[in-house]
Amino acid sequence: MKKKQSSKEKQSIWSDGSFVQSVDPNDKDKMRTFHMKHDEEMNFNCSKCKTKISAHNKDWHNGMCDKCFNKEFFPDNEKN
Ligand SMILES: [Zn+2]
Repeated sequence: MKKKQSSKEKQSIWSDGSFVQSVDPNDKDKMRTFHMKHDEEMNFNCSKCKTKISAHNKDWHNGMCDKCFNKEFFPDNEKN
């Protein structure tokens, strides 16, 4: 699968499709939370450490808080 890349656009994990590849753009409920802040609708709990997470994290961070999400997906970034 080839991707068209615009040199003007900054690439990030969100724009290159590496993480959001399985999202249906017609899924309005999920797209709604994509644009939400990380502290909006804190009605959920992290699946790992049970801390309060937002609707955005539930949908876009695999149901995890930022800390657990980063640990899971970017273990190289962790500084001990
Ligand atoms: Zn957590």
